[in-house]
Amino acid sequence: MAQSPSYGEIKLFIDAEWIGAEGRVTEDVINPATGEAIAALPHATAEDLDRAVAAAERAFKTWRTTPAYDRAKILRKAADLLRERVEQLAPRLTMDQGKVIAEARQEFLIAADIFDWTADEGRRAYGRVVPSRIPGVRWLVVKEPVGPVAGFTPWNFPGIIPARKISAALASGCTMVIKPSEETPSTVLEIARALDDAGLPKGVLNVVHGRPSDVSEHLIAADGIRKITFTGSIAVGQHLAGLAAKHGVKRTTMELGGHAPVLIFEDADIDAAIRTMVQAKYRNSGQVCISPTRFVVHESVHDRFVDGFARAAAEIRIGDGLDELSQMGPLANGRRVATMERMVADAVERGAELRTGGERTLNRGYFYRPTVLANVPEDAIIMNEEPFGPVAVTARFSSFEEAIEQANRLPYGLASYAFTSSSRTAAAVSEALEAGMVGVNNAAISMTETPFGGVKQSGYGSEGGVEGMEAYLTTKMISQS
Ligand code: NAD
Repeated sequence: MAQSPSYGEIKLFIDAEWIGAEGRVTEDVINPATGEAIAALPHATAEDLDRAVAAAERAFKTWRTTPAYDRAKILRKAADLLRERVEQLAPRLTMDQGKVIAEARQEFLIAADIFDWTADEGRRAYGRVVPSRIPGVRWLVVKEPVGPVAGFTPWNFPGIIPARKISAALASGCTMVIKPSEETPSTVLEIARALDDAGLPKGVLNVVHGRPSDVSEHLIAADGIRKITFTGSIAVGQHLAGLAAKHGVKRTTMELGGHAPVLIFEDADIDAAIRTMVQAKYRNSGQVCISPTRFVVHESVHDRFVDGFARAAAEIRIGDGLDELSQMGPLANGRRVATMERMVADAVERGAELRTGGERTLNRGYFYRPTVLANVPEDAIIMNEEPFGPVAVTARFSSFEEAIEQANRLPYGLASYAFTSSSRTAAAVSEALEAGMVGVNNAAISMTETPFGGVKQSGYGSEGGVEGMEAYLTTKMISQS
């Protein structure tokens, strides 16, 4: 086990100034592995929030005209700094979020990769020339940054999710005020520090903390903010989209929840499906919006799949994420453990078979065992609401149509997966699934260079890929003679 590292102080970062808790309301940041407070999070005052917006507005005037080439240099430098600092930074992410240290390191490396790739994509925000039908007139379509952005990010990926938003906004020439989750504030501050050290002009990125509803209502209503980007639950997304419409019809990107189906066809490589899906299911203790959740398995292979999956799940070593030997850390907070207990009890009461897990463990912090529930009835809460935790549920199907019907039954449409050795089934299932992302025989659906986003109630707008840049650009048509 590594020496317990120090978590350090949490500050606000406004107009390139690091501001401590003096005179401000604070709340405890909790280590989910121990349940103990590790820092005091200073809440931004209304004046702090106004200062942050004013700084973002001021900085936008020059950042938008800074050549994309120069903006990219700063973002790439910050990416290098994050890579250099990964050993020093990863333990803090583990301490406030809970994920195992290997996943925390990987999160910083992926965040750095996102900054690199997006920095270069910002240099390619081309417009186009439309052949004009009027002699002597030129028609140009140009892309411009939308303006200062307010970003709200959750606790499950406190590095990757903000990295997607910050990098695309800044590479496009926008400025930003971001509120990371109050529960996992350290990582965004380290990203801000890397950007500051890389030479980001003051005011381009500002980080504020506080009660989520107070901060979002204040920022969304601010005249200077032109775009809202949020990742989190559907209920909060609906609320923020409403505020954005009310306060000036502001542009929004909404990355909301999911309830990913996994279709296992009878011709699938079952061992490969188990290996891939156990890893994907229990990564970050299942607190992933694209986490495979509902395993809808052909009746002829259902029992074999469930036996192998439950055996592999039971072997996962649970412990404090700082321990290099731990394979799964605690859940991020007590709300998640309570939700797992409620959903598992409900499913079992309705007739589901508990194949492994189904209980808290380690007598401290928020640990919950990797869990498998088999033959779960459709009316169980967990078959309809996102568990967002380490619980996999299975159901059976007998025909292709039935599998698709089950997969598309819910109002969500973020990720979906299928396993089959038939290219015909692979093509048919990819077309039929109502989802923003489909993984066929693999789980590699969240990459820097590919679009990430949902359909139906899972939200709208993509992050990552060229689509991720569009979210921060407006289109202007110029007719010039
Ligand atoms: P929650 O909806 O209260 O909080 C989710 C995130 O939204 C938090 O980071 C919080 O700071 C932020 N938030 C909450 N209210 C806000 C507001 N009014 N304005 C701005 N930000 C606000 O719920 P929770 O208990 O933290 O998580 C519950 C559910 O949220 C999960 O079950 C999951 O469905 C969803 N969730 C989704 C993601 C994702 O990546 N899509 C991430 C975290 C949580």
